[in-house]
Amino acid sequence: MFTDLPDSVEIREVGPRDGLQNETTIPVGERIALIDALSATGLTAIEAASFVHPKAIPPMAGSAEVMRGITRVPGVRYRALVPNERGALDALACDADELEVVMSISETHNRKNINMAPDESVKQIIELTDLAHREETPVEAILSTAFGCAYEGDISPTRVAYYARRVLDEGGVDALSFGDTSGMATPRVVVELLDALEVEGIDISRIGLHFHNTRNTGLANIMVAMQKGVSRFDAAIGGLGGCPYSPGATGNVATEDVVHMVEDLGATTGIDLDRLIHCGQLAEELVGRQLPAQVLRSGPRTRTVVTEEPV
Ligand code: ZN
Repeated sequence: MFTDLPDSVEIREVGPRDGLQNETTIPVGERIALIDALSATGLTAIEAASFVHPKAIPPMAGSAEVMRGITRVPGVRYRALVPNERGALDALACDADELEVVMSISETHNRKNINMAPDESVKQIIELTDLAHREETPVEAILSTAFGCAYEGDISPTRVAYYARRVLDEGGVDALSFGDTSGMATPRVVVELLDALEVEGIDISRIGLHFHNTRNTGLANIMVAMQKGVSRFDAAIGGLGGCPYSPGATGNVATEDVVHMVEDLGATTGIDLDRLIHCGQLAEELVGRQLPAQVLRSGPRTRTVVTEEPV
């Protein structure tokens, strides 16, 4: 049926960082409880914290306490986003398993987000990667606004591929992912980017993709990316998320929904969906409202019980 799909897919949880950074401040103890619950689901990677200045993103204050307070489960990588050298040093001091460094392909977004031109960001990625590698900690570069920008509109896939090549070759990063910060990815845009990356000689099977569900195309984006050979996706429990610097950007694609679809397609994730749904309920309690994840409410399709005659 779908002969070209990957056999296994890694779903990386980003709710405790990308999700909660958009909320009013959640107490450190509750952030730890959510991460610990997620650690018991079979997830292999959790974006646990962001070492940004607390004045820039107040909900991420206390990230060092979060990193030190979680109960680490063997086989789970606890990742931290770092915007600069100070953040990288703090994250390394807390034994983050992987650092994430971000640059926006959109110059306008990059300046608003980290006050740098893209070329300056490449230089910074080189420096932060050197720093992390001295501590034998791997680094992933996240190229954000890779599918479009709320300020600049369309982003040239060739330009994204150009920077992808540079952060791999010059930056020496260990992994690469592409973020849909503004929620502008559609299946067409995803395929155009993946084609451009292939032209640049980038191995599609090793990249990660990060979608927001702003225009309800998140799952369709993942489906076409899997058909092109991508096997690593970010998602946030309950569909938490957004971006404080991207007007109108809503939550990440929901982990429950992604795991449900991917497993139904026959690719293994290693994640226990029932436990994940429990985490989604916990996330709703933390933020005090209903979250957009659909499978959180409906359960998996195999559990559908028909109680009425169809009309
Ligand atoms: Zn995001």
